Amino acid sequence: MDMDFTPDELDFQAEVRSFLKSHLTERLIEGAKRTPGVFVEPDIGLEWQRILHEKGWLAIYWPEADGGTGWTPVQRYIFEKECALAGAPALAVLGLKLVGPVICRFGTPEQKARFLPRILSAEDYWCQGYSEPGSGSDLASLKTRAALEGDTYRINGSKIWTTHAHYANWMFCLVRTDPDVSAQRGITFLLVPMDQPGVTVTPIVTMAGDHEVNQVFLDDAKSHVGNRIGEEGQGWTIAKFLLENERGGSCFAPKLIADIDQLALTAARVPSGTNGALVHDTEISRKLASLRLRARAFEISELRILAEIAKGRPPGPQTSLVKLVSANLRQELDTLAMEIHGLAGLQLPAERPLYGNEAPEPVGSVEAQMAAGRYLNSRAWTIFGGSDEVQKNIIAKTVLGL
Ligand SMILES: Cc1cc2nc3c(=O)[nH]c(=O)nc-3n(C[C@H](O)[C@H](O)[C@H](O)COP(=O)(O)OP(=O)(O)OC[C@H]3O[C@@H](n4cnc5c(N)ncnc54)[C@H](O)[C@@H]3O)c2cc1C
Repeated sequence: MDMDFTPDELDFQAEVRSFLKSHLTERLIEGAKRTPGVFVEPDIGLEWQRILHEKGWLAIYWPEADGGTGWTPVQRYIFEKECALAGAPALAVLGLKLVGPVICRFGTPEQKARFLPRILSAEDYWCQGYSEPGSGSDLASLKTRAALEGDTYRINGSKIWTTHAHYANWMFCLVRTDPDVSAQRGITFLLVPMDQPGVTVTPIVTMAGDHEVNQVFLDDAKSHVGNRIGEEGQGWTIAKFLLENERGGSCFAPKLIADIDQLALTAARVPSGTNGALVHDTEISRKLASLRLRARAFEISELRILAEIAKGRPPGPQTSLVKLVSANLRQELDTLAMEIHGLAGLQLPAERPLYGNEAPEPVGSVEAQMAAGRYLNSRAWTIFGGSDEVQKNIIAKTVLGL
């Protein structure tokens, strides 16, 4: 694999840098930096989304025919890396990276025309209704029932851990349409409008004090048959396609490496009793170096996967490796941040958001103020999108052939 960028790719990199310099505002950088949760708040994420949409640089994972950028995997990598280095907010993945590609791949022309432009313009905000109480890792056991009555599905059941359901006006969900066939074959992929009497959203506040996830109750909720993606019973195939996109097929390493470098800069500012600054402490510098080396090795693996995608091959089960490694490196980074900030890292403000005029003053640095919230929220990385154990099972079966 050739690891050097071509002259055209270097030109593209310069163009991205110049765009970020002129369009990425201080407010957006601060909003991203001062969010301890896993997911960026919509006011920050959507503002950045609108700027990218105007430039035509938003749907980097969609086919060009459906409004995507048509970039090569290397261009996507360059873009993600430059965004990470510049401190850009992460975009909300639910519409752009999860249901968007599903509609591009499995939607009818009418569904594409109706939903895709509204994802790009942020008129629609999506949430993901996969998990249920009792059906998380064992997703195929889900019980939410959808019965077709005339041209409308009547839906009953409950979804849980639904990220940003309190902002969403649409939910893409897996429902059981046929209870009499094998678990996977009875599942259908359905889009459900949130703003209706049959849908109730109740908050779940995480141990860090953030409200990101919810439980959603569906009591005789309704959705028109035209909101079904694919055929009845095709939901499991579509669900797997979406999960592969959720777990990989994009670039986690650039942000991870940028955050490790940022932590090293922070450690250079924290005094140490014996060595001037903590970054010179043998144990801390060893941990930083170890993290950086493994993140760099991970970056090479991601680039290798991109090279496969560039040749037209699907990312496949390697996405489980990406998910497993990136989640664990992320947790290790947030744990090391707690160690570096010491006592100052123990503050956990109750107010939200932590940016803007109403934000509480940090004790010490902003980085210290974020550390505990990040550490606590970071526990979720090895759970959502499929837990570590589930990824290891997939790797054992499909990569190692055990
Ligand atoms: C912050 C956050 C956001 C989320 N957002 C969403 C969302 O937007 N939409 C959505 O649908 N879901 C969402 N989830 C749910 C997430 O996908 C599930 O939590 C996850 O799939 C695990 O399911 P569970 O919580 O039911 O745990 P369980 O499946 O009950 O697992 C409990 C434990 O048992 C282990 N385990 C289970 N099965 C096996 C096995 N076969 N072999 C070995 N170990 C096993 C698991 O690894 C885990 O440690 C979110 C979760 C979190 C934490």
